[in-house]
Amino acid sequence: MGDWFQTIVDVEASPEEAGALAEGVRSWLVSSGVVSAERTHCILGAELGHPSGPRAGEVVDASGWSGPWQGGLEINVGRTVFDGGQGDPTAVSCPHCSATVELMDDDFQLDRQAWEPFRDVVHGWDEGRDVVIPCPSCGRPVEPAGWRWDDDYFVFGHLGFRFWNWPPLRTGFVAGLTARLAGHRVVFLDGKL
Ligand SMILES: [Zn+2]
Repeated sequence: MGDWFQTIVDVEASPEEAGALAEGVRSWLVSSGVVSAERTHCILGAELGHPSGPRAGEVVDASGWSGPWQGGLEINVGRTVFDGGQGDPTAVSCPHCSATVELMDDDFQLDRQAWEPFRDVVHGWDEGRDVVIPCPSCGRPVEPAGWRWDDDYFVFGHLGFRFWNWPPLRTGFVAGLTARLAGHRVVFLDGKL
């Protein structure tokens, strides 16, 4: 069985404000009992996360969930490429002219040639570089976070809240968390690893 995650990404938080926003949400989640304050090895990887708190069951819909569940919350502060998990990106569009670049070939394999410049954009963001490339259609330069990935396959941001192996989060809870992000636009991602 794989690990499944749901991520709320604040796509408008600047690097300067991400830390303070993260703290605000963290203390709200702890004080309302959704997560516990003490961090443990409850998330995927070597990082520490916040385990679910005594009232976590109230913010999820566990009706389709069999058995008890556990898992934790990972808070990402700083440049991160948030992704949708398995598979390859299928297509990406220009924010200026909306032209779409197909990234899959006819056999549904990643088209290496089409992907090459975008690979740089994605890896650059991870490594702290802004790789600005021109749109293949209109030629205008596109900022790394400007590209629109089909199905939000990649989302570039400085702040994200990733819930590992929690049943589906209730809409009201996601809205409540979003309301604490200074009116920023958020993208919700879920996927499997
Ligand atoms: Zn374009």
